[in-house]
Amino acid sequence: MIRGYVSVDLGGTNIACAVADEAMNLLGESKTPTESHLGPEGVLERIVTAVEELCRENEIEPCGIGLGVPGLADLSSGKTLFLPNLPTQWRQVPVTAPLGERLGCPVSLLNDARMAALGELVFGAGKGDENLTFAFFTIGTGIGGGIAIDGKLRLGPLGAAAELGHQTIDPDGPLCGCGNRGCLEAVASGTALVGKGAWLVRSGRASRLRELCEGDLNRITPFLMVDAAAEGDDAVGDVIREAGEAIGIGVANVATVLHPELVVLGGGVAKMGDLLLRHVRETVDRRVGMFPPETVRIETSVLGEMAGTWGGLALARNPELAKP
Ligand SMILES: [Zn+2]
Repeated sequence: MIRGYVSVDLGGTNIACAVADEAMNLLGESKTPTESHLGPEGVLERIVTAVEELCRENEIEPCGIGLGVPGLADLSSGKTLFLPNLPTQWRQVPVTAPLGERLGCPVSLLNDARMAALGELVFGAGKGDENLTFAFFTIGTGIGGGIAIDGKLRLGPLGAAAELGHQTIDPDGPLCGCGNRGCLEAVASGTALVGKGAWLVRSGRASRLRELCEGDLNRITPFLMVDAAAEGDDAVGDVIREAGEAIGIGVANVATVLHPELVVLGGGVAKMGDLLLRHVRETVDRRVGMFPPETVRIETSVLGEMAGTWGGLALARNPELAKP
């Protein structure tokens, strides 16, 4: 047995675990269905089992665990406050204490988007610059975020700072899950994009997309929309451009407030690649006027889907990183 660190990313569908040795070599990973209907007690039990199994397989004695949760958590007391997508919503559920007791090591808690931002900061696009100011947008089903100022995550008292997806982009836009209208998430998330794609197919304005999804609107993805746009569906191209511009406005706002050296776009939608990135870059260049906008680098995530895992390992090694 050697000492090591464990990352746990609690999602609505899966519990993703990873284990690394003290030199931060990734030794193993696992994915376990969350079975969220079991409620907090049952899911915490599943986390214990998953971590124990992964540690046993890799002959690791855990000396720290970083846990990411999909929602609001009280970082100092180690309780979840509101996980909107899990049954019962996990209000006031102690998690770090019971997990730490069962697994025999300290457990540190962080919102999952902040954890991915931490991963990208320490091991990804921000690696090597200890004083970096950066903003991380994770664009998937929803839009999450994280901000680091002078190399330190800005968390706020509840770890809820940097909810970059919930800045208002369109004052009269669609209602967002958070209750506000016209949030970036409501206009440019993967869910919003796919919804607009389906609407174009239904209204007969996206013949190529209709072919690509074989008439099944549930099969539309942001990537399929990129293909349809490249193959002649101009209306789909317009929707992608509008999403890129909305994200660009979000990035421009953050750039104007913070003047970060680096903005990283992560999450599934960021993998749409150059087309989206170009619209974001052009919008930022157009809308940031008080300093040369090219001083802000905009890049896609280096770690991709592994950002959360690496953030969890960074947190497990150094719990101070999540002190609000
Ligand atoms: Zn919102």
